[in-house]
Amino acid sequence: MDPFGRTIDYLRISVTDRCNERCLYCMPGGYRGWGQKESHLTPGEIARIVEAAVGAGFRKFRLTGGEPLLRRDIVEIASGIQKVPGVEWLALSTNGILLAPLAEELRAAGISSVNISLDALSPETYRKITGGPVEKVLEGIHAAQAVGFPSIKLNCVLMRGINEGEIWPLVEFAAGHGLPLRFIELMPLTRTDVLNGENFFPVAEAESLLSRRDTLVPHGEKLGNGPARYRRLEKTGAVVGFIGAITAPDFCESCNKVRLTPDGKLRPCLGRHGELDLLPALRNGGDLAALFQETVANKPKDHGFSESYKPGRPMTAIGG
Ligand code: SAM
Ligand code: SF4
Repeated sequence: MDPFGRTIDYLRISVTDRCNERCLYCMPGGYRGWGQKESHLTPGEIARIVEAAVGAGFRKFRLTGGEPLLRRDIVEIASGIQKVPGVEWLALSTNGILLAPLAEELRAAGISSVNISLDALSPETYRKITGGPVEKVLEGIHAAQAVGFPSIKLNCVLMRGINEGEIWPLVEFAAGHGLPLRFIELMPLTRTDVLNGENFFPVAEAESLLSRRDTLVPHGEKLGNGPARYRRLEKTGAVVGFIGAITAPDFCESCNKVRLTPDGKLRPCLGRHGELDLLPALRNGGDLAALFQETVANKPKDHGFSESYKPGRPMTAIGG
């Protein structure tokens, strides 16, 4: 339990800050410097950290980045975590580009839930936002469905003037494939200039846009372990989640997570700078579980996005 009565049992692990896309809101300049970094934790180190996290009450884990599937040892990382007693849930966030050839091995390694980013269906708009080919992502989605991950969700970051025309096509795609789709508000993560009146698109506006075409009813079932608020669209049958990180006044009240960076730092909050270095304890046999407890004890009440938060590390190095 943190000082604000929240149960913190979810660790998001960024396994790399590298990426093969260059999303406008995340890594617009693309990634430079391709080699596997020496500072990146090894699969064995990640498993030891997960063991310590379990000792401090953590039960749910997500692999993210950067693009986690760029790590050649991603399957080894996943199966190492899955073997740690006490791990109840292991998930993956990916842009989907490299998912198709890896889906089966990842499923066998114990990943039960996959979130795939899909900001647009139109190849031109998708390329404009991410620099990549949407066809590969669609192949990844189909492969994930074919190997039978128990949960697959689609994520779309909303940007006014860029992908608002994609909202309805994405809803129809999600309904047609029986996959929940979440709309996410832009956060000032890597860049400070993304969060301005011109391109910020509040989730409430997406909701009212959808309600002009369909009837939105509350979706009772909680999906996954994140902060989305879900609605079902009666006619299309789509299940749509809204992640109002900026506009929802109670967004942080249900926060249940901390983040691990690729170089072994624990971050109590995505939207505040504090972090705690696990490496000295990891490499010298110190008490890692105590550091998890300290991080939970220092979890801030809420993010600082509305206080002109200036990002210190790019999103890819924190773990989305
Ligand atoms: N590369 C993977 C992917 O794109 O899904 C995993 C890492 S990515 C940083 C995780 C999630 O964070 C994605 O859904 C992405 O769209 C979201 N994200 C990145 N930058 C963001 C921003 N500035 N505001 C809101 N969401 C963001
Ligand atoms: Fe890469 Fe994901 Fe960031 Fe896009 S959102 S640049 S795919 S890490």
